[in-house]
Amino acid sequence: MNIVILLGAPGSGKGTIASRLAAENANLRHVSSGDLLRGAVAKGTPAGVEAKGYMESGRLVPDALIAQMIKDVVAETVGDVTMLLDGFPRNLAQAKILEEMGAPVRSAVLVDVPDEVIHGRIAGRRTCPKCKAGYHVVALPPKVEGICDKCGAELVIRKDDRPETVTDRLAVYHGETEPLISHYEGKGLLRRIDGTQEPEKAAAEFLAAM
Ligand code: AMP
Repeated sequence: MNIVILLGAPGSGKGTIASRLAAENANLRHVSSGDLLRGAVAKGTPAGVEAKGYMESGRLVPDALIAQMIKDVVAETVGDVTMLLDGFPRNLAQAKILEEMGAPVRSAVLVDVPDEVIHGRIAGRRTCPKCKAGYHVVALPPKVEGICDKCGAELVIRKDDRPETVTDRLAVYHGETEPLISHYEGKGLLRRIDGTQEPEKAAAEFLAAM
Protein backbone atom coordinates (compact mmCIF):
# COMPACT_ATOMS: atom_id res chain seq x y z
CA MET A 1 0.00 0.00 0.00
CA ASN A 2 1.18 3.51 -0.69
CA ILE A 3 -0.39 6.96 -0.47
CA VAL A 4 -0.90 9.83 -2.88
CA ILE A 5 -1.95 13.00 -1.06
CA LEU A 6 -4.36 15.35 -2.84
CA LEU A 7 -3.69 18.99 -2.03
CA GLY A 8 -6.01 21.80 -3.07
CA ALA A 9 -8.57 24.25 -1.77
CA PRO A 10 -12.13 23.17 -0.99
CA GLY A 11 -13.85 23.21 -4.38
CA SER A 12 -10.63 22.59 -6.32
CA GLY A 13 -12.18 19.39 -7.69
CA LYS A 14 -9.75 17.04 -5.98
CA GLY A 15 -12.59 14.87 -4.63
CA THR A 16 -14.13 14.55 -8.09
CA ILE A 17 -10.76 13.64 -9.60
CA ALA A 18 -10.07 11.02 -6.91
CA SER A 19 -13.48 9.35 -7.09
CA ARG A 20 -13.30 9.26 -10.88
CA LEU A 21 -9.85 7.66 -10.89
CA ALA A 22 -10.82 5.14 -8.19
CA ALA A 23 -13.90 4.11 -10.19
CA GLU A 24 -11.73 3.47 -13.26
CA ASN A 25 -8.70 1.80 -11.60
CA ALA A 26 -9.14 -1.23 -9.34
CA ASN A 27 -5.88 -0.58 -7.46
CA LEU A 28 -6.77 3.01 -6.52
CA ARG A 29 -8.82 3.69 -3.39
CA HIS A 30 -10.34 7.10 -2.70
CA VAL A 31 -10.37 8.06 0.98
CA SER A 32 -11.95 11.44 1.77
CA SER A 33 -11.60 12.79 5.31
CA GLY A 34 -14.69 14.97 4.76
CA ASP A 35 -16.76 11.91 3.76
CA LEU A 36 -15.50 9.94 6.77
CA LEU A 37 -16.51 12.82 9.04
CA ARG A 38 -19.91 13.36 7.37
CA GLY A 39 -20.54 9.61 7.75
CA ALA A 40 -19.73 9.81 11.47
CA VAL A 41 -22.00 12.86 11.88
CA ALA A 42 -24.86 11.07 10.07
CA LYS A 43 -24.45 7.98 12.28
CA GLY A 44 -24.23 10.10 15.42
CA THR A 45 -21.05 8.41 16.68
CA PRO A 46 -19.18 10.19 19.53
CA ALA A 47 -16.61 11.46 16.98
CA GLY A 48 -19.44 12.67 14.74
CA VAL A 49 -21.15 14.51 17.59
CA GLU A 50 -17.86 16.24 18.42
CA ALA A 51 -17.08 17.09 14.77
CA LYS A 52 -20.46 18.53 13.77
CA GLY A 53 -20.12 22.11 15.08
CA TYR A 54 -16.62 22.56 13.68
CA MET A 55 -17.72 21.36 10.25
CA GLU A 56 -20.82 23.51 10.03
CA SER A 57 -18.78 26.63 10.75
CA GLY A 58 -16.00 25.70 8.30
CA ARG A 59 -13.33 25.18 10.99
CA LEU A 60 -11.03 22.18 11.15
CA VAL A 61 -12.01 19.41 13.56
CA PRO A 62 -9.37 18.51 16.21
CA ASP A 63 -6.33 16.75 14.70
CA ALA A 64 -6.60 13.69 16.97
CA LEU A 65 -10.22 13.08 15.99
CA ILE A 66 -9.63 12.89 12.23
CA ALA A 67 -6.19 11.27 12.62
CA GLN A 68 -7.77 8.28 14.41
CA MET A 69 -10.23 7.76 11.54
CA ILE A 70 -7.42 7.90 8.97
CA LYS A 71 -5.28 5.50 11.08
CA ASP A 72 -8.13 2.97 11.05
CA VAL A 73 -8.50 3.17 7.26
CA VAL A 74 -4.73 2.93 6.70
CA ALA A 75 -4.57 -0.14 8.99
CA GLU A 76 -7.30 -1.97 7.05
CA THR A 77 -5.83 -1.15 3.60
CA VAL A 78 -3.43 -3.87 2.51
CA GLY A 79 -2.02 -5.26 -0.73
CA ASP A 80 -1.22 -3.56 -4.01
CA VAL A 81 -3.30 -0.47 -3.41
CA THR A 82 -2.61 3.25 -3.85
CA MET A 83 -4.72 5.31 -1.49
CA LEU A 84 -5.80 8.68 -2.88
CA LEU A 85 -5.91 10.61 0.37
CA ASP A 86 -8.26 13.56 -0.06
CA GLY A 87 -8.56 16.16 2.72
CA PHE A 88 -5.88 14.75 5.05
CA PRO A 89 -3.37 16.05 6.06
CA ARG A 90 -4.86 19.55 6.37
CA ASN A 91 -2.05 21.15 8.39
CA LEU A 92 1.59 20.48 9.31
CA ALA A 93 0.68 18.71 12.58
CA GLN A 94 -1.43 16.21 10.62
CA ALA A 95 1.39 15.71 8.10
CA LYS A 96 3.63 14.75 11.06
CA ILE A 97 0.97 12.32 12.37
CA LEU A 98 0.77 10.71 8.91
CA GLU A 99 4.56 10.37 8.81
CA GLU A 100 4.48 8.72 12.25
CA MET A 101 1.95 6.17 10.97
CA GLY A 102 4.73 4.92 8.72
CA ALA A 103 2.57 4.71 5.60
CA PRO A 104 4.73 5.43 2.53
CA VAL A 105 3.78 8.68 0.74
CA ARG A 106 4.47 8.36 -2.98
CA SER A 107 3.62 11.95 -3.95
CA ALA A 108 1.51 14.99 -3.04
CA VAL A 109 -0.39 16.42 -6.01
CA LEU A 110 -1.63 20.01 -5.83
CA VAL A 111 -4.83 20.64 -7.79
CA ASP A 112 -4.30 24.34 -8.48
CA VAL A 113 -7.37 26.62 -8.81
CA PRO A 114 -7.61 30.40 -8.11
CA ASP A 115 -9.97 31.54 -5.31
CA GLU A 116 -12.34 33.40 -7.69
CA VAL A 117 -13.01 30.18 -9.59
CA ILE A 118 -13.57 28.30 -6.31
CA HIS A 119 -16.26 30.76 -5.16
CA GLY A 120 -18.23 30.28 -8.41
CA ARG A 121 -17.94 26.52 -8.22
CA ILE A 122 -19.03 26.13 -4.61
CA ALA A 123 -21.89 28.61 -4.97
CA GLY A 124 -23.45 26.29 -7.56
CA ARG A 125 -23.03 23.05 -5.60
CA ARG A 126 -26.14 21.10 -4.66
CA THR A 127 -26.24 17.89 -2.66
CA CYS A 128 -28.85 15.17 -2.19
CA PRO A 129 -29.54 14.89 1.55
CA LYS A 130 -30.78 11.31 1.08
CA CYS A 131 -28.31 9.48 -1.20
CA LYS A 132 -25.47 12.10 -1.00
CA ALA A 133 -25.17 12.48 -4.81
CA GLY A 134 -23.49 15.76 -5.79
CA TYR A 135 -24.59 18.22 -8.51
CA HIS A 136 -23.71 21.67 -9.82
CA VAL A 137 -26.26 24.10 -11.26
CA VAL A 138 -23.99 24.84 -14.27
CA ALA A 139 -21.40 22.07 -14.56
CA LEU A 140 -23.50 19.05 -13.54
CA PRO A 141 -27.19 19.97 -13.38
CA PRO A 142 -29.80 17.35 -12.41
CA LYS A 143 -32.36 16.44 -15.11
CA VAL A 144 -35.11 18.21 -13.17
CA GLU A 145 -34.03 21.41 -11.39
CA GLY A 146 -33.61 20.91 -7.66
CA ILE A 147 -34.39 17.16 -7.72
CA CYS A 148 -31.94 14.25 -7.34
CA ASP A 149 -31.70 12.11 -10.52
CA LYS A 150 -30.90 9.02 -8.49
CA CYS A 151 -33.49 9.00 -5.70
CA GLY A 152 -35.91 11.89 -6.37
CA ALA A 153 -35.18 13.76 -3.12
CA GLU A 154 -35.08 17.57 -3.05
CA LEU A 155 -31.50 18.88 -3.39
CA VAL A 156 -30.01 21.15 -0.72
CA ILE A 157 -27.03 23.47 -0.27
CA ARG A 158 -24.66 21.89 2.26
CA LYS A 159 -24.32 24.14 5.32
CA ASP A 160 -20.58 24.43 4.76
CA ASP A 161 -21.13 25.48 1.10
CA ARG A 162 -22.87 28.74 2.08
CA PRO A 163 -20.92 31.76 0.71
CA GLU A 164 -19.92 33.09 4.15
CA THR A 165 -18.66 29.66 5.19
CA VAL A 166 -16.75 29.26 1.91
CA THR A 167 -14.83 32.47 2.65
CA ASP A 168 -13.92 31.04 6.08
CA ARG A 169 -12.91 27.67 4.58
CA LEU A 170 -10.64 29.38 2.04
CA ALA A 171 -9.03 31.41 4.84
CA VAL A 172 -8.40 28.17 6.75
CA TYR A 173 -6.94 26.64 3.57
CA HIS A 174 -4.54 29.53 2.96
CA GLY A 175 -3.52 29.77 6.61
CA GLU A 176 -3.25 26.13 7.65
CA THR A 177 -3.17 23.86 4.62
CA GLU A 178 -1.08 25.85 2.14
CA PRO A 179 2.15 25.42 4.19
CA LEU A 180 1.92 21.75 3.20
CA ILE A 181 2.85 22.75 -0.35
CA SER A 182 6.38 23.80 0.65
CA HIS A 183 6.53 20.92 3.14
CA TYR A 184 6.11 18.33 0.37
CA GLU A 185 8.12 20.41 -2.10
CA GLY A 186 11.04 20.23 0.34
CA LYS A 187 10.74 16.44 0.38
CA GLY A 188 10.75 16.32 -3.44
CA LEU A 189 7.23 14.84 -3.46
CA LEU A 190 5.19 17.77 -4.81
CA ARG A 191 3.50 17.69 -8.23
CA ARG A 192 1.15 20.39 -9.57
CA ILE A 193 -1.74 20.10 -11.98
CA ASP A 194 -4.10 22.70 -13.46
CA GLY A 195 -7.46 22.25 -11.73
CA THR A 196 -9.34 24.75 -13.94
CA GLN A 197 -9.57 22.36 -16.89
CA GLU A 198 -12.40 19.85 -17.63
CA PRO A 199 -12.66 17.14 -14.92
CA GLU A 200 -11.72 14.42 -17.41
CA LYS A 201 -8.54 16.22 -18.49
CA ALA A 202 -7.64 17.11 -14.90
CA ALA A 203 -8.04 13.44 -13.89
CA ALA A 204 -5.78 12.28 -16.74
CA GLU A 205 -3.14 14.88 -15.85
CA PHE A 206 -3.39 13.84 -12.21
CA LEU A 207 -2.86 10.17 -13.03
CA ALA A 208 0.22 11.01 -15.10
CA ALA A 209 1.61 13.28 -12.36
CA MET A 210 1.11 11.04 -9.32
P1 AMP B 1 -14.12 18.55 3.01
O1 AMP B 1 -15.25 17.71 2.49
O2 AMP B 1 -12.77 17.89 2.82
O3 AMP B 1 -14.12 19.96 2.51
O4 AMP B 1 -14.29 18.63 4.60
C1 AMP B 1 -15.44 19.19 5.19
C2 AMP B 1 -15.12 19.63 6.61
O5 AMP B 1 -14.68 18.51 7.39
C3 AMP B 1 -13.99 20.64 6.72
O6 AMP B 1 -14.44 21.98 6.51
C4 AMP B 1 -13.53 20.40 8.15
O7 AMP B 1 -14.43 20.98 9.09
C5 AMP B 1 -13.65 18.89 8.28
N1 AMP B 1 -12.40 18.21 7.89
C6 AMP B 1 -12.19 17.40 6.80
N2 AMP B 1 -10.94 16.92 6.78
C7 AMP B 1 -10.32 17.44 7.87
C8 AMP B 1 -9.01 17.34 8.41
N3 AMP B 1 -8.05 16.61 7.82
N4 AMP B 1 -8.74 18.00 9.56
C9 AMP B 1 -9.67 18.74 10.19
N5 AMP B 1 -10.93 18.90 9.73
C10 AMP B 1 -11.26 18.25 8.59
